[in-house]
Amino acid sequence: MSPRIPITDPKREYSSFKAAIDEALQSVLDSGRYILGRNVIAFEREVADYLGVGHAVAVASGTDALHLALRACGIGEGDEVITTPFTFIGTAEAISYTGATPVFVDIDPVTYTLDPARVGAAVTPRTRAVIAVHLYGQAADLDPVIHLCRRHRLHLIEDCAQAFGAEYRGRKTGALGDLGCFSFYPSKNLGAFGDGGLVSTDDPALAEALRMLRNHGSDAAAPHRHGRIGYNSRLDELQAAVLRVKLRHIDELNRRRQEWAKAYRSRLQGIVTPPAERAPGEHVYNLYTIRHPRREVLARRLEEDGIASAVHYRSPLHRQPVYRDLHAARSLPAAERAAAEVLSLPMFPGLTREEFARICRSIETFAEQGGGVTAIPAL
Ligand SMILES: *Cc1c(COP(=O)(O)O)cnc(C)c1O
Repeated sequence: MSPRIPITDPKREYSSFKAAIDEALQSVLDSGRYILGRNVIAFEREVADYLGVGHAVAVASGTDALHLALRACGIGEGDEVITTPFTFIGTAEAISYTGATPVFVDIDPVTYTLDPARVGAAVTPRTRAVIAVHLYGQAADLDPVIHLCRRHRLHLIEDCAQAFGAEYRGRKTGALGDLGCFSFYPSKNLGAFGDGGLVSTDDPALAEALRMLRNHGSDAAAPHRHGRIGYNSRLDELQAAVLRVKLRHIDELNRRRQEWAKAYRSRLQGIVTPPAERAPGEHVYNLYTIRHPRREVLARRLEEDGIASAVHYRSPLHRQPVYRDLHAARSLPAAERAAAEVLSLPMFPGLTREEFARICRSIETFAEQGGGVTAIPAL
């Protein structure tokens, strides 16, 4: 039997850049400086330049990036933050950490990102911010949200965890809101060998607040003075060194993801619903997520053929036990329907032609055999 095809494979990326990464890691080990050293400083500058923003502050994870971004805006107890229910739990957890309440509004049924028309209706006198998530690698519909945030004087925070390098009207995501939050979890487009995150901003005061928050509230100018309660949330030198090597190749890596997405689309059109590219800009395909009414049958078929797939996300956040009480009677039908039908296929730059062919054959066979219609008796 052929080897199992994973949904993502960070080890192949390591193999591609092994010599440069090994050298970078060795140099950190030899330096004796492991926290907030020259690699973190250089990485922050390089990412800020790449994104086209004034400041980048590296932190310990994507979830911390979101949490510290909200803290830097002064959000806390009694505040409300509007976001999507169709995202990784970390987006909402960060809101809850501050004591604020996440307010979930339904998604656009085609792009699965925040429906801007519904954001306005959810604004109350307690609303302080909106977190827009660039889901699967595609920018959310930002223009109307930017407009609305200006009008109501709300902070706009972009969750860019799945969208490093994505663009919206010619600008990188993370450069459009007040703050952009990135994750370097190994499966993300720019992945570390552990946890990592970063916040981007053009506002020097927010950047300064973030630098304090990630390092025990200490002031860079007077490191022993603690002006506020902060956290221990720093990206470490080893991760920064790896990320600097990969950052040099990110456009090429994203281009390969886009090529696989194009190939999937032309081969699977008519069998499954491919992802809709609606944002005016580049979709960077952290995930290749299709839609099919018999998703479970398709997933089983792939599994039998030795192909991994995954569901992002099986339960929208307003249906999760921790958030159910907040939204007891409310239904968010577009998110609920998406949760029942989406399926992510293997997607990573180092996918091979043979693997791609095997995945597509498996899905074509599923369709030829009735697309699961025979497997599940009609109601
Ligand atoms: C991965 C992810 C996060 C959290 O990032 P971590 O680095 O794992 O903490 C937040 N939001 C979204 C949309 C993500 O995909």
